Amino acid sequence: MLSAQQQKIVSHFKGALASDTLRHAYIISGSSGVGKKRAADELQLLFACNEGTGCGNCTGCKSAKLGANSDIIRLSLGEKNVYEIARIRELIKKVHEKPKGKHKLIIIEDAHCLGQICQNALLKLIEEPPGYAVFVLLCDNLFTILPTVLSRVMTIEMQPWKKKELEAICPLDLSKSYLYDLAEGNVGTLLSIASDSELSKVRDTAIDSFVRLASSSPYGVYDALDEWLVNKERLKDMLGALALFLADVLLVSLGRKDDVVGTDKIRECEAIAARLSPKAALKLTELAGSQTERIGRNENLSMALLTMFMKIKEIIT
Ligand SMILES: [Zn+2]
Repeated sequence: MLSAQQQKIVSHFKGALASDTLRHAYIISGSSGVGKKRAADELQLLFACNEGTGCGNCTGCKSAKLGANSDIIRLSLGEKNVYEIARIRELIKKVHEKPKGKHKLIIIEDAHCLGQICQNALLKLIEEPPGYAVFVLLCDNLFTILPTVLSRVMTIEMQPWKKKELEAICPLDLSKSYLYDLAEGNVGTLLSIASDSELSKVRDTAIDSFVRLASSSPYGVYDALDEWLVNKERLKDMLGALALFLADVLLVSLGRKDDVVGTDKIRECEAIAARLSPKAALKLTELAGSQTERIGRNENLSMALLTMFMKIKEIIT
């Protein structure tokens, strides 16, 4: 199944192929796990297909699936962190070999790992490509791409998946439906957290710790700190779970109980919401959001966490 965004990309290329208005170079950008590689799989079929539809069944499509179609070159990073220039030189040579069909499709995965030297080597090729060449670069982060390259490619941004699309591709029990929100529209994240058996424990710890903190004496911040430090390997998930829980608390305090995401924690939500004005609930939500970013950067983790807990205690008095 493809997301609406992936379908849009395939349709774009279908249309451009049919009307002969293909550009020479594209960048498909979007966060890691949003489904760029899957979209590229479809493009491979589209370019290789004997029927011109990407049917998946003809000899052209089958050869593309097996990676045995010489008109399709796909570079992937493998275990490495960065592309080596030798691979790009080899690629340039291959691009200049005439294709069997009308086009030669060159897909470069993880283009954000190309580095300046590789990009400069590619630049010449993208500036004056052979007429048959179509480059598709898949990129997590456009800031890593040189402006000289960016100015010569058409950028297609892949938006996050809609919740309905995520539900269709990865059906989950009601008790786990909060994972759709935790995934933030990223199908890769969703599949990974859905198979993460520890995650629900981590979430319980984060929420329980918060609930205890809310009713504790001022010294409770130190207990919370201990609980969080024990789980510091999963800090990002703890913060994510807390932020989502607090967003639910805000919903309850605004009288929108039906919109709550983590329905299994509704009692905890209501207990906290009962002690807060909507304004204070909003403050907490904002705090969780801003702290997630800060704590990610902060070197002194204990101090950053303590500050967050103290601010929480200030809001819930
Ligand atoms: Zn086909």
